[in-house]
Amino acid sequence: MAKFSLPELPFAINALEPHISENTLNFHYGKHHQTYVNTLNSLIEGTKYEKLSLEEIIKNSEGGIFNNAAQVYNHTFFWNCLTPNHQKEPTGRLRQAIEDSFGSFDNFKAEFTQKSVGLFGSGWCWLVKDNENKLQIIQKQNAGCPLTDGLIPLLVCDVWEHAYYLDKQNARPKYLESFWELVDWKKVETRF
Ligand code: MN
Repeated sequence: MAKFSLPELPFAINALEPHISENTLNFHYGKHHQTYVNTLNSLIEGTKYEKLSLEEIIKNSEGGIFNNAAQVYNHTFFWNCLTPNHQKEPTGRLRQAIEDSFGSFDNFKAEFTQKSVGLFGSGWCWLVKDNENKLQIIQKQNAGCPLTDGLIPLLVCDVWEHAYYLDKQNARPKYLESFWELVDWKKVETRF
């Protein structure tokens, strides 16, 4: 029996339009994310990983098992960073921490955008905190996931081409503009 399954999206498949199309989500969620789930299930079958949680697999594996486990986790995390009921900016303690770490919300946004657009090849741009609540923006190649560095993920942008190619072709900066229209700051605040 398959251990992991594709989690429900926290919004309707067409709810992020016009920023992220239903067509993109049909592929990105319905095909890419589903394939990482299926591949992970087949790779761990009959191994010690079958008994571990997704987070434990990510922290204790490498190669194909790590790549597929991290891609399952990263995509689920990414969907839970997006909402059609978007609040433009964070508030409260998170807002304060962003201003303390980056000078202002605008500076934070500029640095996150620059690190997302500037990440060479495929990967993920993360806002994370360490165990002293200090914030950082980190780039991770391929399936990279901050759990392996002992960091706590708060927000992520998927910058693999499959995340935007159908909507924006090669224009990753345009995709970042759409991303900022969808960030679920309430959930990011809760994680913080
Ligand atoms: Mn993706």
